[in-house]
Amino acid sequence: MFSEEEIRHHFPILDRKINGQPLVYLDNAATTQKPMEVLHASKHYYEAMNSNIHRGTHYLARLATEGFEKARKTVADHLNAASTDEIIFTSGTTDGINLVAAVLALSGKIGAGDEILISTLEHHSNIVPWQMLCQRTGADLKVIPCDDDGVLDQEAFRSLLNGRTKVLAIGWISNAFGTVHPVAEMTAAAKKAGVPYVLLDAAQATPHVKMDVQAVGADFVALSGHKVYATTGIGVLWGRADVLNDLPPWRGGGEMIKEVTFAGTTYNDLPFKYEAGTPNIEGAIALAAALDFVNEIGIGDISAHEQDLIKAAAAGLAEIPDVRLYGPADRAGALSFNIAGVHHYDLGTLLDQMGVAVRTGHHCCQPLMARFGVSGTTRASFAVYNTVADVEIFVASVRKAIGMLR
Ligand code: PMP
Repeated sequence: MFSEEEIRHHFPILDRKINGQPLVYLDNAATTQKPMEVLHASKHYYEAMNSNIHRGTHYLARLATEGFEKARKTVADHLNAASTDEIIFTSGTTDGINLVAAVLALSGKIGAGDEILISTLEHHSNIVPWQMLCQRTGADLKVIPCDDDGVLDQEAFRSLLNGRTKVLAIGWISNAFGTVHPVAEMTAAAKKAGVPYVLLDAAQATPHVKMDVQAVGADFVALSGHKVYATTGIGVLWGRADVLNDLPPWRGGGEMIKEVTFAGTTYNDLPFKYEAGTPNIEGAIALAAALDFVNEIGIGDISAHEQDLIKAAAAGLAEIPDVRLYGPADRAGALSFNIAGVHHYDLGTLLDQMGVAVRTGHHCCQPLMARFGVSGTTRASFAVYNTVADVEIFVASVRKAIGMLR
């Protein structure tokens, strides 16, 4: 197991004082802080490599292309993808899900009366693109319910699967409640029922669990770099090559073409078919640096450390009168709660004055908040660099803030 002290040295921002207090950063489900390795990779790219990629005959173009394609290989290895052709660089999870929903609409493979199955715990990014697909195709959106612990009702899920279900799109881990969904089992059930497309929103899973896209059996996995210690504006859509080859392109432009004439265009092979325009080259290189950083420590050790912290935080909060914790006891990454008579926004504001950064509100999961009859929650979310001391300060600060608010 790594040392907390040692890890924190990699993250310069953690030395900042906020309102005169040491920063306790517990907003990792919104975005993680970046280690020196990632900052160096970004800076090095612009200082030593910057050029546009592919087709360039000059030295820097070759260097940038090599860096970008090496990053694709790092991502493919990290996800255990069958080939780098299956790794499409996007701007993030939102972009990846929109890509899939848009090409499915364009494909003509989804029609009136077909069903798209999502869950109550989805982020808006895994709801709205499917609503747009439904508007375009006449398909219907169906929703898997959850119980009062924020756990998906597996029986209801199975009974929702039917011959009209064309897409199952679910999160791997809930960013709002930390629920870890049994995605491999759910994917297997969907496939057994003949569902042609399964998409996993792995935005919240990427920093917390080992992901093996071949083992999990889905068709698409979308993730965001910034949630796993990389910079913003870079993400990945993994898609099974046979599935992607069978779908039309989305955005048109440079890079995604083989030959263009005014009479018509032929399209490039994977992965370039889905990478129109100049990509976020530096972001891809930074993402590879972030994944190297994670793998150097080991995702198993990272999540064991976070589990200890989240359990300690939940135990500390549970002792506060009138607290309601959301999500199951074995939640991962994020811990959501409310305290009767205290508005989450007021609590977040006071915590900020004490140097504690949490997120309050609906966490881009308004339908989930409606299911629980709340306008929002306070959410503490954890990363590799959080410490036992962070948890102690956090719980003590919540107690102090409540004393001021009630
Ligand atoms: N899904 C989940 C579960 C998320 O946590 C997030 C980011 N908070 C997203 C989707 C959207 O990711 P992005 O904004 O990076 O596209």
